[in-house]
Amino acid sequence: MFRWYPFTIILHDRDRGEVQSVRLKLDPGAKVTGIAVTAAFQRGDTVVWAAELHHRGDQIRQALLTRRALRHARRNRKTRYRKPRFDNRRRPEGWLPPSLVSRVENVVTWVERLRRFAPLTHLSMELVRFDTQKLQDPEIHGVEYQQGTLFGYEVREYLLEKWGRKCVYCGAEDVPLEVEHVVPRSRGGTDRVSNLTVACHECNQAKGNQSLEEFLHHDPERLRQIKAGLKTSLKGAAVVNATRWALFRRLQATGLPLEVGSGGRTKYNRAVQGYPKAHWIDAACVGELGERMRLHPEMQVTRIVAKGHGTRRRCGTDKHGFPIRHAPAAKSYMGFRTGDLVRATIPRGKNTGRHVGRIAIRHRPSFRLNGFDVHPKYLKILQRGDGYAYATE
Ligand SMILES: [Zn+2]
Repeated sequence: MFRWYPFTIILHDRDRGEVQSVRLKLDPGAKVTGIAVTAAFQRGDTVVWAAELHHRGDQIRQALLTRRALRHARRNRKTRYRKPRFDNRRRPEGWLPPSLVSRVENVVTWVERLRRFAPLTHLSMELVRFDTQKLQDPEIHGVEYQQGTLFGYEVREYLLEKWGRKCVYCGAEDVPLEVEHVVPRSRGGTDRVSNLTVACHECNQAKGNQSLEEFLHHDPERLRQIKAGLKTSLKGAAVVNATRWALFRRLQATGLPLEVGSGGRTKYNRAVQGYPKAHWIDAACVGELGERMRLHPEMQVTRIVAKGHGTRRRCGTDKHGFPIRHAPAAKSYMGFRTGDLVRATIPRGKNTGRHVGRIAIRHRPSFRLNGFDVHPKYLKILQRGDGYAYATE
């Protein structure tokens, strides 16, 4: 056995030297990235391993805000007056905020790791929410676009993004939204995206075949907003997702053939196969090959949570910024580090039995494991901390 998470074994012996092509598919998200490893079998492409990678963007943002506040306060206390200097810095091209960089790095780390554990031959990722080219240029529509199904999904994703995933008439969020014709089809309205919005079922029904002015005669402000929104150009509304493009460039640099898909395509693939919504299933459904992807909806999915590698901060402060403790120089104690995956075998006492988990060390023989204190003599390291916490669901 090579690793516990992801569970990896080294074969001593095997029959033949050939392996099928193995594809790593990614659905990068703001909080969670879906990961699916698929392999080509005679029955078709099948998901063989899946994971959900939870990012720590918010944590990083918070840590930087804290650091900034502490430095402000210290400078204020300790430094003579200096002229303000705040607009004399240039950000390099392609700069991303640290919270977003961490997302990209998390995914790249896992691509590189999985490349070591499995003979990956291809990569796929969801690059854009919707394919603006397919929306704009009718010439490149393939057969499936003309039939309207996949095209419909691209349009829907585009509209949801453009109108902020809210009902344009009542502002309802987190409700199923329907595509709504501003000028009703019965009055000559077209299916062009400039005539479409998203609305909840109630508003869509209430509007019926009234015109926008008739339906919103009591709410001139909302009428003005919607009219302005309809006029904004397709390109202006298409939010370029900086993180995804940064990831795209990093994945290209791996040298593996990289397939990209749109969010509309993913949703369509998932819907035609009747799969439930989950990050790893979305990853499996990315791209053209995602339209016929065999998977077990109750598959064991590895939950990977980014935890970082501790902190560089040496001085702990109370809530007013006064120093109250200093971090010891050593990062390990009795051979253990915070983040190590351990098995505890406790012979007696309140927590008798076997426990597995990620430890947090103290610099005395009493560590924290799964919410209780444990002496290191009962611990055995299963896997060294690597910046992630794991669970199988
Ligand atoms: Zn509504």
